[in-house]
Amino acid sequence: MDETKCSKEVWNEFSYPTRRHCSRKVWKDGFCWQHHPENVKERKQDQEKRRQVKLKNHPLIKLLIANAKIAILTKAMQEVIDRYPYPNIPLGINVVDTLKQALQDADNVKEVE
Ligand SMILES: [Zn+2]
Repeated sequence: MDETKCSKEVWNEFSYPTRRHCSRKVWKDGFCWQHHPENVKERKQDQEKRRQVKLKNHPLIKLLIANAKIAILTKAMQEVIDRYPYPNIPLGINVVDTLKQALQDADNVKEVE
């Protein structure tokens, strides 16, 4: 084996599915820059970060978050309606607290499972 070449085995594009050694020069620890485990790990972490950002901004995820917020607010309003079925009984301060809490809970929904 040529010690000046990278020790990573890669797919042979000319006779797939055989493998061959990477033809690049050694950069550090027997690997080229691209195949050095530290750089491979760093690239995978960067890819995962980009994937997470992309996923978070996907329209479907945004729709699911919006639906989760609507569900919280709808539930809180229904609780208020159920607790005060008689129009001549004044609404208590805890109605406002319930709705304030629901608004806060809805605002805190940043992701869905
Ligand atoms: Zn290599």
